[in-house]
Amino acid sequence: GSTIGVLGGGQLGRMLALAGRNMGYRFVTLDPTEDAPCGQVADEQILAGYDDVEAARKLADKSDVITYEFENVDAHVTDILMKESYVPQGSQLLYTTQHRLREKRAIEAAGVPVAPYAEIGSADQLREAVERFGTPCVLKTATGGYDGKGQWVIRSLDEVTEAYETLSRAKTELVLEQFIHFDKELSVIAARSPRGEVKAFPAAENIHVHNILHQSIVPARIPADVQQEAEQLAIRIAESLGVIGLIAVEMFLTKNGQIYVNELAPRPHNSGHYTMEACRTSQFEQHVRAICNLPLGSTELLTPVVMVNVLGEHMAPLLEKVDATGFLEDEELGISAKVHLYGKLEAKEKRKMGHINLLVRDVNQAQAWIDCTGIWKSK
Ligand code: ATP
Ligand code: MG
Ligand code: MG
Repeated sequence: GSTIGVLGGGQLGRMLALAGRNMGYRFVTLDPTEDAPCGQVADEQILAGYDDVEAARKLADKSDVITYEFENVDAHVTDILMKESYVPQGSQLLYTTQHRLREKRAIEAAGVPVAPYAEIGSADQLREAVERFGTPCVLKTATGGYDGKGQWVIRSLDEVTEAYETLSRAKTELVLEQFIHFDKELSVIAARSPRGEVKAFPAAENIHVHNILHQSIVPARIPADVQQEAEQLAIRIAESLGVIGLIAVEMFLTKNGQIYVNELAPRPHNSGHYTMEACRTSQFEQHVRAICNLPLGSTELLTPVVMVNVLGEHMAPLLEKVDATGFLEDEELGISAKVHLYGKLEAKEKRKMGHINLLVRDVNQAQAWIDCTGIWKSK
């Protein structure tokens, strides 16, 4: 069989390897941490930093196809991997999605709306833009942010100097966005293969707590035509950017039905974990299919589902419940809970340790189950 190399050894790589091994592929991962979630299930882990050129050469040497599980891959390393192995996703997609301004321009070029934004190069420019957009508005570093890190919600002009000075320390460009008073946050994951086949998974309705994904609800509680539009926008972006593999598209939906794209991720996405049991094909299998130029699998939704993230602080209460046999099944509510844990050793606060897919008859029933476990009380 062929070997797939994965840059990065986190949970996304782990679930990718678990799916790909079932399809007959071997996996090698490169990650600096011993016992990384992906390393535990891959055939081999190269223990080195992501910017280690020798290690990248080794990965290239061992792999027939290379993919990555995060977007902040060093450009120099990508070059080596492209020269010495096969990286079907290419370097352009990474270059675009590594930087919020480039990403927004690419989304606009696909004919898809983003929230009004401005490039910020000085405190004066920031003040001018805040006056133009009105408060609140959101200042973000152009690169390196995740889980809301590298962001400042500016609520008054008094905060301009401090916000600018704080985020400037990141030594990257800054971008100011108008605050979108969204009704819902949605995401759609689309896959595109080198032969040009494109498929989107059903739109997820996402609930964040402290800027970290808490729940994905599918089907999203939105009208069918909005669901279809969201899926069409993701497909348009995948085609316009010439995506190979997965592209996750995060969106804001306003009360009057307007959709703005927030950001992209060229990889499996936390909001797509629901596909593992709820869709005919999981996002991880679909990514393997796309990068290996196999026919894409059906994205049909088999059951309503609510995905709930398990963070470090949820581990102790979760393990108590899982030990009490049968607690996670609720026949009366018709809920079947599938627990996925990532094999991380230390349950640090806010750290993503696993997730639970609640297979339900009606997504509105999941909330009662979530509340009665008490696991997510400390959110
Ligand atoms: P991720 O972990 O998804 O990569 P991130 O750190 O890249 O997160 P964003 O997705 O840009 O950050 O923003 C995090 C959250 O902050 C969004 O999901 C949304 O809830 C809120 N947010 C971001 N930008 C805006 C905006 N312009 N208007 C309103 N809310 C926003
Ligand atoms: Mg992000
Ligand atoms: Mg985001």
